[in-house]
Amino acid sequence: MKSLENIAAFTIAVQGVVQGVGFRPFIYQLSAKHHLNGWVYNTSNDVTILIEGKTESINHFISDLHKKLPPRAFIEHYTIKKTKPAGHKEFVIRNSVVKKGKYQLISPDIATCRDCRNEILDPHNRRYRYPFTNCTNCGPRFTIIKDIPYDRSRTTMECFDLCPECTHEYNNPLDRRFHAQPNACPVCGPQLELLDFNGKKLSVKDVNSETAKLLKMGYIVAIKGLGGFLLACDATNDNTVDQLRIRKKRPGKPFAVMVDSVQTARRYCYVNSTEEKILQSPQSPIVLLKAKSHIDISPSVAPGLRYLGIMLPYTPLQHLLLEETRLPLIMTSGNLSEEPIARENEEAIQRLYGIPDYFLVHNRQIYSTYDDSVVVVDNRLSQIVRRARGYAPFPIKLKTSFPQGLACGAQEKNTFCLTRDDHAFVSQHIGDLDNQEGFDHYTETIELYKKIFRIRPKIITADMHPDYASTRYAKATAEQSGLQFIPVQHHHAHVVSTMVDAGINSPVIGVAFDGTGYGTDGLVWGGEFLFTEFTKFERKAHIQYLPIAGGDTAIMKPYRIALSYLISLFGENSLNYDLPFLKLIKHEEIDIISRQIERSLNAPLTSSCGRLFDAVSALLNIRGEIQYDAQAAIELEVMAWKCNNDSNIYPITWKENDGIRVIDVEGLFRAIIDDILCRVPTPVISARFHNTIAKMTYIMCQSIYAETGIKQVVLTGGVFQNRYLLKIVTRLFKSGGFSVSTNRQVPCNDGGISLGQAVIGGCMLTM
Ligand code: ZN
Ligand code: ZN
Ligand code: FE
Repeated sequence: MKSLENIAAFTIAVQGVVQGVGFRPFIYQLSAKHHLNGWVYNTSNDVTILIEGKTESINHFISDLHKKLPPRAFIEHYTIKKTKPAGHKEFVIRNSVVKKGKYQLISPDIATCRDCRNEILDPHNRRYRYPFTNCTNCGPRFTIIKDIPYDRSRTTMECFDLCPECTHEYNNPLDRRFHAQPNACPVCGPQLELLDFNGKKLSVKDVNSETAKLLKMGYIVAIKGLGGFLLACDATNDNTVDQLRIRKKRPGKPFAVMVDSVQTARRYCYVNSTEEKILQSPQSPIVLLKAKSHIDISPSVAPGLRYLGIMLPYTPLQHLLLEETRLPLIMTSGNLSEEPIARENEEAIQRLYGIPDYFLVHNRQIYSTYDDSVVVVDNRLSQIVRRARGYAPFPIKLKTSFPQGLACGAQEKNTFCLTRDDHAFVSQHIGDLDNQEGFDHYTETIELYKKIFRIRPKIITADMHPDYASTRYAKATAEQSGLQFIPVQHHHAHVVSTMVDAGINSPVIGVAFDGTGYGTDGLVWGGEFLFTEFTKFERKAHIQYLPIAGGDTAIMKPYRIALSYLISLFGENSLNYDLPFLKLIKHEEIDIISRQIERSLNAPLTSSCGRLFDAVSALLNIRGEIQYDAQAAIELEVMAWKCNNDSNIYPITWKENDGIRVIDVEGLFRAIIDDILCRVPTPVISARFHNTIAKMTYIMCQSIYAETGIKQVVLTGGVFQNRYLLKIVTRLFKSGGFSVSTNRQVPCNDGGISLGQAVIGGCMLTM
């Protein structure tokens, strides 16, 4: 036996994203390089390593561990302990060990890497044109994982037995596919099938080429992807795009477009270097890019909008389809309007019946559905608008350790959030909860996260709104399991989501501008200035309350909001103003609305800023009825961008009521009406309106600063997706010496609410 003199041994436990990213092979190769023996294995908590050898070699090993990490791996934490050398003769990868109650971080799905892409395009490679090619650096992860530790037997790849060649790759430490759990090839892996609109299998020689041909001919194909079905069609074909709109019952909402490369993206849009980097990132989200004019993409793809949602292919199948069609392809979620995305073949054929002409399916099961993520870049910084594929279930890092808790979110664009230690696991975008499919998807995903992260909540938080499906679920769950239930005010949650996102612990002035949120006075809030700490808030200012005839039913018809505001601010006289939008409304409807406002019948009061944008959009006759959420406000913003340089501002006044500043909008509306009557161009009025809201925001915060001494402002709520507003407001705050932050890692819309709730609940429990 060799002497153990000069030989040292250490055990190292590494936590972070270290499974499913080629970490064990990396350790194996590193130990070989430095002539070390020992072992490595996965547990449900970490990767445990034992290395034995010369001290100097061990030092090199540890320095390389950090410096040469595989591209998708991330070390969050590691411990190292000296141990007694045992005379190991080799370095081995041992079987995984399940540790009860322990958990680990899970890698999101990763866009196809360059090596895999080259292989599928290489006629001499055995994976030539194989649509399920992947390796330790890319491919499905979260969508196929049933449980941890991450091994093939606990994924939906379990049912595919590796062929000899794939087995060899899987066992060869020098191969890129060493321990790649979803490893597959044309011999042993999942296969494609082409079905007609009825789900009947078509026998075709080459499914890829046939599908590409159908897309070129203008057909709509439902394609089973990574996280669910996508509906694909030729984005340059007006007829096809219109057909898709009709069949999907989605009249106006923009579609995302997939193009083969950044160069092609530049043909259609302006792409700066940050946007280019995000397009090509392993997350590969949809990036909202400023569209060029005179392009051959159908105007129905994003009617009347300034931005196009562009993404690059992120699966081998998509690479192949784009390669063959040489077309920009619409890729939109396979669902009916706001329902969740369809997941399995049978389900898709049933639920999507009537939308696609063909189905392109495969037999790799999707364990968790996953929409495409959406990102915008503002000021060279990315801002997430929809957080799903590529990002979830990677946690948001918290500054301290939190009790295990569940935050249920809101109602629309919903997410939930589970906390454990210093991790906030914000779920992928779940969507709206007002349909049964959406709600089922929500509760199933909560169970999945609880299982894979081994979380047993001690506390449940939800919105204060008594009628949100998430609130009812939270209450029922709390009652059943005897847990503490904490309702959280909507805008308090918005503001705290931004504080956590931006890493702010001290009190802030939170500006929360959105459409709707249940207030502590039972009224509808949405134009709020809140002095905010994690566990409490104080309302310091808000936009004046105004009634909306018909309440929630008027949201789809902004002209009703405009009319309600007009009558309540200026009385029935205002109906005689020479305003073009009034001429489009039927007399009977005007009568009903004025009666409702006069008698305060079914005319709930709101301080909503989102509704203010809707009202102005309708008043300017830009959009009186909407086809998708926030359409009126979005088109109002498009107008503002069309105005070059007008810095006029409408009057801003406020009164103080019991220490709360109430912002008057009467002068603002009066001035807008005057401008309309004087035939001031619509883009100019829109720009002035945006300038006014920005200035009003600034002035209010200045006044609150004078009272509180707080100069840290956070901007949140769906209204701040308005990039024109965000730009001017940020400029004002910066020049006034304020620090200003907005959401980046989670959306500023209601998709971020759950993070705020989770932190508020956790802090309340521990304080
Ligand atoms: Zn790869
Ligand atoms: Zn194989
Ligand atoms: Fe909101």
